[in-house]
Amino acid sequence: MGAQCSCLDTPALKARTEKLKNHKIIFVVGGPGSGKGTQCERIVQKYGYTHLSTGDLLRAEVSSGSDRGKKLSAIMEKGELVPLDTVLDMLRDAMVAKAGSSKGYLIDGYPREVKQGEEFEKKIAPPSLLLYVDAGKETMVKRLLKRGETSGRVDDNEETIKKRLDTYYKATEPVIAFYEKRGIVRKLNAEGSVDEVFQQVCKHLDALK
Ligand code: ADP
Ligand code: MG
Repeated sequence: MGAQCSCLDTPALKARTEKLKNHKIIFVVGGPGSGKGTQCERIVQKYGYTHLSTGDLLRAEVSSGSDRGKKLSAIMEKGELVPLDTVLDMLRDAMVAKAGSSKGYLIDGYPREVKQGEEFEKKIAPPSLLLYVDAGKETMVKRLLKRGETSGRVDDNEETIKKRLDTYYKATEPVIAFYEKRGIVRKLNAEGSVDEVFQQVCKHLDALK
């Protein structure tokens, strides 16, 4: 153990993290505005999974006004990715906190890049399935601009949306190719209505049981 070993890595935490391997873990991946959060809400209602959105966890940290939150805010306003260790530690803490009661996890908005997926598997567990929420660029922009009217999100503006889409195509699309090789990717056509997309989701989740 080197000096850089995080104080979070206590034997107790390791034991609790180990238990996460018995849970279903579903990555929900797609561009900004593709409808990940919307579908996850529906999945929670029907299947009782625990929904963890890394974006929401990060935004909660920002609103807390902590020093870490201030640094995160600057990165998110630029449409860039937050450092890997920060996201993964937050995610693991949130998963461990729910481990007793959870039927499984929906990990929404993670991994954003292949390296994040590799680190997740090293520190937590491999995913059982990846739901790929696939919407075209125009659809995503339209939905984000509409969401921006009421979301209050610093990144739902035209300038940042462009950068987020660039980041998505460069960093996140390779994630899908990476998991496709393992045969766990289920692609959803996310151009349709929320109900239409959810029907496709159900087909895949029912097959998982
Ligand atoms: P993400 O979490 O992938 O960024 P959201 O779930 O927040 O996306 O959806 C982005 C916006 O698009 C929200 O305002 C949501 O209400 C809307 N939306 C999501 N899915 C659909 C859909 N299938 N049809 C129309 N609007 C949608
Ligand atoms: Mg979201």
